[in-house]
Amino acid sequence: QSKELGQNKYSFFSQELHQKRRSRYMIAAQLHRALEKSEFSLVYQPKIRLTTGEVVGVEALIRWHNVELGTVPPDLFIPLAEDTGLINDIGDWVLQEAVAQVQQWLGQGCAVPVAINISARQFQNGSILQRIESELARSGLDSRWLSIELTETSFMDNAEQTAETLLALRERGVGVSIDDFGTGFSSLSYIRTMSLDHLKIDRSFINSITESERDRQLVKAIIAMSQALGLSVVAEGVETPEQLGLLRELGCDQAQGYLICRPKSAEAFVEWCEQYSAISFLSGGSE
Ligand code: C2E
Ligand code: MG
Ligand code: MG
Ligand code: MG
Repeated sequence: QSKELGQNKYSFFSQELHQKRRSRYMIAAQLHRALEKSEFSLVYQPKIRLTTGEVVGVEALIRWHNVELGTVPPDLFIPLAEDTGLINDIGDWVLQEAVAQVQQWLGQGCAVPVAINISARQFQNGSILQRIESELARSGLDSRWLSIELTETSFMDNAEQTAETLLALRERGVGVSIDDFGTGFSSLSYIRTMSLDHLKIDRSFINSITESERDRQLVKAIIAMSQALGLSVVAEGVETPEQLGLLRELGCDQAQGYLICRPKSAEAFVEWCEQYSAISFLSGGSE
C-alpha cells in the first residue's frame, strides 16, 4: 500500500509528522517557561439568567501569548500541559488569578461569582480539593464566589473518589458544573451519583437548535431532565437572537455566548457590565 502512495507522498507524510512532533516539542519547551515569563492571562465571559437577563456569573478562560508562537489556543496547550504535568502549576495560577480578580471586583462593588475550568487530569490527580481549600483560606474569599467546571471525562475514572471530592467541594460551598455536556463519554450513571449544581449544554447542540428538530428535542429533553434533578441548565455558545429566543421558550435557565458577550479582559468586562442593560437585551434592544 505504501508503494501505491508513491515515494514523494510517503516522504511528504513523514515530513509532516516530523514537523508536528517538532512543533509539539517547541510548544512544550515554551510552555515550561510560560509561567515564570508571565505569559498567561485570563479573559472573562459572563453568563446571564434567561428570565431576568441579569449577569449571574462569569467564566475565566486562560490565554497564552508567546513571542515566538503567538497566541496559542487553550484547546491546544491544555492537553500538552496535562501530558507534561505542568497543568498543576498552571491550574494553581488560574485559581489564584481568578480569586484575586473576584476580590478586586467585590472591592469595586461589582459582584460576580467566577467559574474556573479544571481539566480531567488536573481533577483526577487527587489534590484539587486541597488546592482549592488552601487558596480560599489564604485569600479569605467566601466560597460562594467560586465554582468549577468539569468535563465528562473527569467522571470516567475513580467514581468513588470523584463523588467524594465533589461532595466535599459542594459542602464547602464551591459550585460544580458539568461542562460540554453531551459531547464526552456521556453516561447518565454519573448524574445519578455525583453531586452537581449546573449542567452546561455543549455549544454543538445550541448551534443547530434553530435548524435541527432533532437537536431541539434533545436540548428540550436535557433541560427537562436537569430541572427534574434540581440542576440549573446553561446553554453554551449562543450566537444568534433566534437561538436565545428558542432557549427561553424551552425554559433554559442561563445562557452564555458571543451574542451576549465575547470573552474579555477583566477591565473590558467591567466596562461591559456598566453598559449592559438586561432589559433592553432581552427585549431585543441590543442586537
Ligand atoms: P469551555 O470551558 O467549554 O469554554 C468555552 C469555549 O467556547 C471558550 O473557548 C470560549 O471562548 C468559546 N465560546 C464562548 N462563546 C462562544 C460562542 O458563542 N461561539 C463560539 N464559537 N465559541 C464560544 P476557549 O477560551 O478557546 O477555551 C477552550 C477550552 O479550553 C475551554 O472550553 C476549556 O475546556 C479549556 N480551558 C480554557 N481555560 C482553561 C483553564 O483555565 N484551565 C483549564 N484546565 N482549561 C481551560
Ligand atoms: Mg468551561
Ligand atoms: Mg464548555
Ligand atoms: Mg470545551
